[in-house]
Amino acid sequence: MANPNGNAALFFDLGGTLVKLNESREIPLDANGNIVIELLPNVADKLRPMHNHLMFVVTNQAGITRGRLKLENVEAALAQLDHLLGDILTGWQICPHTDDDHCQCRKPRGGMITDLAEMYGVDLAVSTMVGDQEVDRLAGEAAGVANFIAAKDFFGW
Ligand SMILES: [Mg+2]
Ligand SMILES: [Zn+2]
Repeated sequence: MANPNGNAALFFDLGGTLVKLNESREIPLDANGNIVIELLPNVADKLRPMHNHLMFVVTNQAGITRGRLKLENVEAALAQLDHLLGDILTGWQICPHTDDDHCQCRKPRGGMITDLAEMYGVDLAVSTMVGDQEVDRLAGEAAGVANFIAAKDFFGW
């Protein structure tokens, strides 16, 4: 898990942390069912200067299993987000499962974070998780991420 020779990284939740959610706290869709990506305040200004950091997005998208979303649309939305930020994201992981699937990736479990850490040589003991929900904090903790910062504090809302 920990990689003492690795790099520090930032792990971000998606909805409510980097992008806006709808009134039902879901990723918004347009009339054609495409995901609408709208950055939350200060996100671009804060992240663009950090382009030399390893930065990842780890997102629960159970709507894929429930049929509201398609995996390829979520992938495309993340690519669009990365483009909006100036191509600064190092990578991302999407959990498509529901609680019933008992997967290792759905937050509050840490599987998405530990997978990325292994792939990119991240030292979690010097890394940070940023999120808007308790499941984000717990996922970071489960993965061995040293720090958690609430999205509202990280972005100064
Ligand atoms: Mg969130
Ligand atoms: Zn999963």
